[in-house]
Amino acid sequence: MRGLLAFAALFVAVLAKDTFEGHQVLRIIPKDDVQLSLIKELEEMAEFELDFWRGVTNAGTPVDVRVPFHGLHSVKMYLKSQDIEFSIMIEDLQLMLDEEQEKMASAARVAMPRTTDSYDYANYHTLSDIYSFQDMLVAENPNMVSKIVIGQSYEGRPLNVLKFSTGGTNRPAIWIDTGIHSREWVTQASGTWFAKKIVTDYGQDPALTAILDKMDIFLEIVTNPDGYQYTHTSNRMWRKTRKPNPYSSCVGVDPNRNWDAGFGGPGASSNPCSETYFGPSPHSESEVKSIVDFVKSHNNIKAFISIHSYSQMLLYPYGYTTLAAPDKTELHNLAKKAITDLASLYGTRYKYGSIIDTIYQASGGTIDWTYNQGIKYSYTFELRDTGYYGFVLPASQIIPTAKETWLALMAIMDHTFKNPY
Ligand SMILES: [Zn+2]
Repeated sequence: MRGLLAFAALFVAVLAKDTFEGHQVLRIIPKDDVQLSLIKELEEMAEFELDFWRGVTNAGTPVDVRVPFHGLHSVKMYLKSQDIEFSIMIEDLQLMLDEEQEKMASAARVAMPRTTDSYDYANYHTLSDIYSFQDMLVAENPNMVSKIVIGQSYEGRPLNVLKFSTGGTNRPAIWIDTGIHSREWVTQASGTWFAKKIVTDYGQDPALTAILDKMDIFLEIVTNPDGYQYTHTSNRMWRKTRKPNPYSSCVGVDPNRNWDAGFGGPGASSNPCSETYFGPSPHSESEVKSIVDFVKSHNNIKAFISIHSYSQMLLYPYGYTTLAAPDKTELHNLAKKAITDLASLYGTRYKYGSIIDTIYQASGGTIDWTYNQGIKYSYTFELRDTGYYGFVLPASQIIPTAKETWLALMAIMDHTFKNPY
């Protein structure tokens, strides 16, 4: 009987989703370098199982951290004893997740539409819904859209890339990816909206039409499918890949620290349990390696845009070094134009600059690698919001987020088109 009970308990544990009951997200405001290092010490205290939603940067810049219930009291005492200012950003994370689930479940009761016109862009969707969406879009637009499988995830899922092309062979191209960090749900949802926007606007919007008459667009909506699936089935807060790490019970590598650009340097962790674990070797993750191989074999990509959330920023290289990118002035001016266009719709304010100047030193990031490959217009977005909901952005904000971001994407694509190199 005891054996049976133990087995039943194990069964439930395997099937059950991780709960975030009583978890709070704290916003900590370090006022000087002393407090910064005290917060970094907190980061090292593994027993609290802290999850940094926005990492430690510089004095005055908020740090957002999810604190599991069991460590909440101690962490707050620690901050108070050091006189570090903080506030409670999310009172009980599970309540927010329950709301998100309820909304998804009620939307899911409506059968999956058979056309992309009736797809519910204002809701979050499962992996299989997004795969179906991609196939529908290809079927509806056979002359413009095709699906390329650039590789397989660790768990064997296809790494699908939509190719938007009006002809030619190996035309200069623009790459956009969303969802390399799986919990950043507004990015995959925006990517889906972008895909539909491209086919809708071609022949209608003169700027996009001109671009697509000469260039191709590649869009990878679910760049980390194993992680995305896992956020739906097991742990909504999953960020990394799902490949097990030898000699560790912790799973996964940070796919935005795994690129061969300053690999293993500051701003990435050698600890497999860290959310910023850089992995055993550069491009060890098939989700990363597949893009590397694709970019190299294509060899004519002119803009590379990797989309994350949250914190409302538009960033360009470098992240791993303080050296200025040779094209810094142009990248900076274009970023300014892009975020100005973005803000013109709803007034959403973005910061912009190089990664190292704007957030922190981060090594092994995607766009540092693409830039070093000669892709001048390499950018990373951090979409909405600035922390009120963080990764749990309500679905009602998907379309507004996608719409405003599209204006910034158009600014970058248009500039790339008009400045061939
Ligand atoms: Zn991210």
